[in-house]
Amino acid sequence: MTPAAYAELNLGALQHNLDRVHSCAPDAKVMAVIKANGYGHGLIRIAEALKNADAFAVARVDEGIRLRKAGFSHRITVLEGFTCAEELQKLQHYQLDAVVHCLTQLDIFETGAGQQAIAIWLKLDTGMNRLGFRAEEFSAVYQRLIDCPLIKQPVNLMTHFASADDINDDKTLKQISLFEQTVAGLSGECSLANSAAILGWKSSLSDWVRPGIMLYGISPFPDATGQQLGLKPVMSLHSRLIAVKPIEVGDTVGYGGSWRCETSTTLGIVAIGYGDGYPRYAKAGTPVLINGRRVPLIGRVSMDMLTVDLGVHSDAKPGDSVTLWGEYLPVEEIALWADTIPYTLVCGVTQRVQLVEK
Ligand SMILES: *Cc1c(COP(=O)(O)O)cnc(C)c1O
Repeated sequence: MTPAAYAELNLGALQHNLDRVHSCAPDAKVMAVIKANGYGHGLIRIAEALKNADAFAVARVDEGIRLRKAGFSHRITVLEGFTCAEELQKLQHYQLDAVVHCLTQLDIFETGAGQQAIAIWLKLDTGMNRLGFRAEEFSAVYQRLIDCPLIKQPVNLMTHFASADDINDDKTLKQISLFEQTVAGLSGECSLANSAAILGWKSSLSDWVRPGIMLYGISPFPDATGQQLGLKPVMSLHSRLIAVKPIEVGDTVGYGGSWRCETSTTLGIVAIGYGDGYPRYAKAGTPVLINGRRVPLIGRVSMDMLTVDLGVHSDAKPGDSVTLWGEYLPVEEIALWADTIPYTLVCGVTQRVQLVEK
């Protein structure tokens, strides 16, 4: 019997997608971004499937510690760095690399917390206006860091793009050139590119690339699917039909009665909802795959169920398998129907969905 809701993971696709990164950036080392529980796919299994990457990146210290405790000896960068001496000591103890992006972190380093030196990535804010130092203060900060005994030399240098997924926006070129000007003459390796830049902005590749979403087989661009970019989707989300019934003209479906039947048809009730991470804002018409056939979502998605219009001549029956996104139904397409990005869909799959390795 198939579970009510499960996500099938094609782990072999991760190596394929990593190969794709190498073919786009043949001279760069790869820091595989596996934050947020490996974009919802499971941190440890994703790290295992990507063990050929040169390094890993996570957002938070505890994610890095989980990887060390599971036995990974790769370099691991903590993208948000640390905010207090206690966290710095954890980075030292587990030998995790820290992103340094604000002056508080320099003060903590200089008060000499802990014993062991760690490697760092000094972050320049080139226009994202999230983490990083401004260009004007960068060289003074760099000088302070090269004098700090708790920091392994050379200091590495990074930035992050705000609009790399828009190939027509020259903001990325401005960010690249501000980065190049600011780090000119400084020693240390450089890293700029996320997935969109790896696929779309060749001049950003540099020493290290930081792919996230493309490793999971998903396009960073709103107008393309991963498959069109030579990627293979890792996650396919499945459920099953639990009821099939006719509906008459004038009847409405679901909470609020937002969908009204115009010509009599057959409804299919699918055992998955927003409690599993299927987006409640998916509009009527969002495709759902049943027995290899696309049928439209109708009415509001509820917590544990959603409804589809099977059409008059359907032979679908309770127990039939249903695909919500994945190999034959791009998650990128579902994201458009739900006014979101595919990142939120895969990250949002909830605890009760069984993750099954293919
Ligand atoms: C999440 C993240 C990445 C990866 O971004 P994708 O768009 O998923 O490729 C790279 N660098 C930083 C700093 C990030 O936060």
